[in-house]
Parts: sequence; C-alpha cells; structure tokens
Amino acid sequence: MNSETILTASNVRKYFPIKEGIVKAVDGVSFSIKYGETLALVGESGSGKTTTGHVIMGFYTPDAGELIFKGRYSLSTPIKKRDLELKRDIQIVFQDPGTSLNPKHMVKDIVGLPLRIHRLSQSSSIYSRVAELLDFVGLGADFMFKYPSELGGGEKQLVAIARALAPNPSFIILDESTSALDVSSQAKVLKTLSRIQREHNISYLLITHDLGVVRNISHRVMIMYLGKIYEEAATEEFFHRPLHPYTQMLLSSIPTLTEDDEAIKPKGVESVGETPSALNPPKGCRFHTRCPFAKPICSERDPPDVVVDSGHIVRCWLYE
Ligand code: SF4
Repeated sequence: MNSETILTASNVRKYFPIKEGIVKAVDGVSFSIKYGETLALVGESGSGKTTTGHVIMGFYTPDAGELIFKGRYSLSTPIKKRDLELKRDIQIVFQDPGTSLNPKHMVKDIVGLPLRIHRLSQSSSIYSRVAELLDFVGLGADFMFKYPSELGGGEKQLVAIARALAPNPSFIILDESTSALDVSSQAKVLKTLSRIQREHNISYLLITHDLGVVRNISHRVMIMYLGKIYEEAATEEFFHRPLHPYTQMLLSSIPTLTEDDEAIKPKGVESVGETPSALNPPKGCRFHTRCPFAKPICSERDPPDVVVDSGHIVRCWLYE
C-alpha cells in the first residue's frame, strides 16, 4: 500500500424522494482511500453503505458533496457520461454471482466481454487473456468452457472477480461479495482478493455487514448508521478499542474463536430500542433511540467528529 490517496469523498449526500417523504440514504459522508488499501464500510441493512458504493460507481449521482478519483476525475457524473478510462478503472463485484453472471454465456464470453467492450485485446488473443485471468484468480483455463450453472458459489464469484479484473482497474467495490458464500468458499475468495491486491496494488471498498470478513482483509474500518459515519479506525485499533456504542454493540454480538478475542470483546452493550427508519431518522445522534448510554443532548444535537487518536475518529457525545 502506498500513502497516496486514490479516492476522496467530501460531505457526499444522496437522498431519495418517495411518496411518504425523503429517504436520506447517504447524509454527508466524508472519507478517503489510499492506493492498495482496503477500506471496509460496515453497517446494517438500510445504513446507506451500498448507496455509497453505487454513487462511486456512477449508478446514482450525488445530490451534494464531492467525490474525486486519482486527483483529477470528479465522480459526480453518471456512469454513462464518464470517460472510458474512468469506467475501466472502477469496477464492482456484486453479492450474488448467480444473478450477475449471464446463465446463457460460457465463462470465456463472460470474462471476455469487458475485453471486447473496452477493446483491450485483439479478437484473436481475447481467449488467451481470459485464460490468464482465470489462472490468476485460481480457477484455471479449463473453466472457460463452463456455464455458470456448472459452477459452485465460490467459483462463480471468482469468475465475477476475473471479469472485474479484465479492464485492469485500480479500484474495486466489493459489495457484500462474500456474503452469499459458505465459509470455505469465502476463505478462498478472500485469500484470492488479498493476493490480487498485493500483486497489483488495487484499492478495495469492502461493503459488508460481516465483521469477520472485515478483520480478514481490511486495513481500515468505517461504521455507518442511517446515512452517517459514526466511527473510523485502523482495523486492529477498531477491534481492540471500539469506542462508539453502536460499534461496541455490533462487536459484542459476534462469536469469537479464541480466548484473546473474547477478552477484548465489548460486553453487555445491548440495543435498548427499535431501529428507526431512514425515511424519518431521529434528530440529534441517530443512534440515540437504541443507545444504552444516551444523554439528553444526544436527542437534541448531532455529535461532532472527535479525533481520539491518529486515524481514530468517533462521532459521539461521550467523547466530546
Ligand atoms: Fe449514544 Fe449519545 Fe453517543 Fe449517540 S451520542 S452514541 S446516543 S452516547
């Protein structure tokens, strides 16, 4: 990993007007990602993490704020209007390879499609490049002639990763990419992703609700809740010194394998209420309706970001 920044997001907002009001899916998030770094964006369903990734991809345009890629590209434009070079440089791997791979196409055509679209290989050499990519993700060239229905879940996801790698991207969004896999397939895919990153210095935005996956692969972690980021820290610091009550609640509920992990796990931080809707998020700290430590100010005023240590930021009145 090098220390230069590949992506900077500043105060990004994305709201969705619906009949009943406005869903504030992403409500003023700021962060940056370095070359060769994995940043995990963690949250429950409805936290806004996937919308954040889809804004970066250009599936949605932001309503406010700025996203700058490689210091020169604004990501405020929809994907259709982006330069070809930018489209190649940012790729995504979705959660369910069963629906993201065309069941009527053989693997050679699925992985070869971006090479054709972006004219990255001569027609005569497309399949040798596909074979290289399949080797690179650990599948082997003989997978070229299979259909998705002949593959296991982990194999399908490795094909999806080979397809994402085909245009030589610098940045890949992993949108719950291992959530649908069994434990051994998940381990294989994560190992492959780590190796690819080491060898090609690719940056990952890992969107997940699974803290086990986060620990395995990420360098830094951000916690998102109802459209806002509430804690950010380097991964080891995050697991050893979680500060935000919501982070503590999430960590206290995951099973641990070792006594050391059990010793550092936050104890007894339990939600005291219902999860509010993103359609009508609570005033003040959005977590206050569930927080066991809430004080009167919490329901009145949004807490500021507090830098507690180098790279460790928490948004909670307990640390002000
Ligand atoms: Fe809990 Fe208040 Fe901190 Fe929010 S600001 S997490 S309600 S203590």
